[in-house]
Amino acid sequence: MSERFDRNERFFGKEGQNKLRALTIAVVGVGGLGTHVIQQLALYGVGGLVLIDHEELDQTNKNRYIGVYADDQAPGARKVDLGERHALLIDPTIRVIKVHDVLVSQAGFDAIRSVDYVFGCLDKEGTRLVLTEFCAAYAIPYFDLATEIITGDTLTYGGRICFSNRGQGCLMCFGVLDVAEAQQDLSNPNAKMDRQKIYGVDAASLGAGSGPSVVSINGVIASLAVTESMLAATGIREAKRLLSYYGHTGKVTVSTDEALANCFFCKGVWGKSEKANVERYLSK
Ligand SMILES: [Zn+2]
Repeated sequence: MSERFDRNERFFGKEGQNKLRALTIAVVGVGGLGTHVIQQLALYGVGGLVLIDHEELDQTNKNRYIGVYADDQAPGARKVDLGERHALLIDPTIRVIKVHDVLVSQAGFDAIRSVDYVFGCLDKEGTRLVLTEFCAAYAIPYFDLATEIITGDTLTYGGRICFSNRGQGCLMCFGVLDVAEAQQDLSNPNAKMDRQKIYGVDAASLGAGSGPSVVSINGVIASLAVTESMLAATGIREAKRLLSYYGHTGKVTVSTDEALANCFFCKGVWGKSEKANVERYLSK
């Protein structure tokens, strides 16, 4: 494969590079986080990407999406197409499967059931919850990425990555899922649509998808997640389960929390595959 991966191989060897090449990785959410992740996975030389996003590009995305350019149609361009274009410009041999639909769809579920890793690059708690449960059911290692910029009296900003694997901890275990908001997303599709309508009127209103978001903070979180996945996949070390980045103090911390003894996802659902009946979300 020429000298293209020479500098990678000096880090983790030809064997490590071959392991990366053998991976198929799903990126759910081709946005501010997802486009960074796609770029880095393509440069690392992964063999296959599954890209899931139902949205089209918006002008307000253009401050931070990687591989999106001034003349890309917004609206008009599908985010999955932009993600695919960028990945294939880096490496035309990558196998790309695109799902221009929500995750909670037959196509979305079918596309990720047998991937090696999932990266959740989402801004909706309900989708996070479904993805956590889906990955637990089908025993797929799952990186969940999140960034946050809280304006107001005290300005705080940063993000975190949470890695769920082998039923040894998840968003729920570590208390980083907003369960109330997730349930609201899931139990009442109309509430979600109402919020989207509100965003259409006032993009500055607080909430999922319309808060502040900037390229470099997204880049830190995406880089932490992709680095952890590379270390795990090449066998250098296990991935950390929860890394938090506090931009306002410049710190990255690693959690030593353990999985909850009675976690529904880690203990109840892990590895149950179709018996977990995650497909029940499809009928909602
Ligand atoms: Zn758990």
